[in-house]
Amino acid sequence: MISVFGSANMDLVAYVAQAPKPGETLTGREFRTIPGGKGANQAIAAARAGADVAFLGAVGDDAFGPVLRAALAEAGVEVAALRVVPGPSGVAHIVVQDGGDNSIIVVPGANGAVTGPVGRDAEIIGRSDALLLQLELPMDAVVAAAQVPGTEVILTPAPAVPLPAELLETVDLLVPNEHEAAALTGRDDPRDALEALLDLVPEAVVTLGARGALYGSRDGTRLREAAVPVRAVDTTAAGDTFAGALAVARTEGADPARALRFASAAAALSVQREGASTSMPHRHEIDRLLE
Ligand code: ATP
Repeated sequence: MISVFGSANMDLVAYVAQAPKPGETLTGREFRTIPGGKGANQAIAAARAGADVAFLGAVGDDAFGPVLRAALAEAGVEVAALRVVPGPSGVAHIVVQDGGDNSIIVVPGANGAVTGPVGRDAEIIGRSDALLLQLELPMDAVVAAAQVPGTEVILTPAPAVPLPAELLETVDLLVPNEHEAAALTGRDDPRDALEALLDLVPEAVVTLGARGALYGSRDGTRLREAAVPVRAVDTTAAGDTFAGALAVARTEGADPARALRFASAAAALSVQREGASTSMPHRHEIDRLLE
């Protein structure tokens, strides 16, 4: 079983020729509400990839809360530990310009009210095979979740902020993209960044978008996995799909090479479809691509 302790946001996406300047009002072409948030995305990715998944986090008591809960439940994610707190749910207000450039405002809402897991929540994490964490919840809460003993801790360090030592001490596997890896280490070359990350944690994967991913372990293993060559239409949540699928493969006992291949296949399937959770592949699709 995999636990995800993380954010759930409603993505409010407006598609427009060009983003408005301050004071300007424009007519957009299309508007969509899409359940998202890095935590919920990783939970859905892992469930679709074949794991039993429990989501721990919070939504608000507004109209978005039940929609976010239903999106997780429909993907087969256990939501008994998803809290409802007074006030708005987390939202990401996204403007997509023609050509694909995004500007995004994230308002944490209920995610900002999440505190460290205690009682039944800590028990769920403690009996999980892996715990997936990201940094869209208050840092104190993330640190407390990572300190629950008994599970493998996999951290996506996004958004890129400095990581406290007490968090790094508990992380088994760090999965940054190349920009986050550079921000954490001060090294622009991802291979150098990977080496620097291994001074901080026992294992790391640096994702490189269409160039694939690098893996390193303190036991000396170094791997490079090319991305599956596909025509990408929307790379939103490619990283979350990769992290969710990677966790599934590891909890099934896959070795690092096999786990990387599995995660790359899942992510390559997701970039060929639009949206975040809407683009994440099911297990049979991943297995078919790997045949
Ligand atoms: P996002 O922020 O969009 O979720 P990210 O920046 O966290 O993504 P990336 O490094 O862009 O993560 O991508 C994660 C993985 O997804 C890559 O390691 C690769 O396996 C796969 N991937 C991304 N883009 C492509 C692509 N164009 N073609 C095939 N695979 C891709």
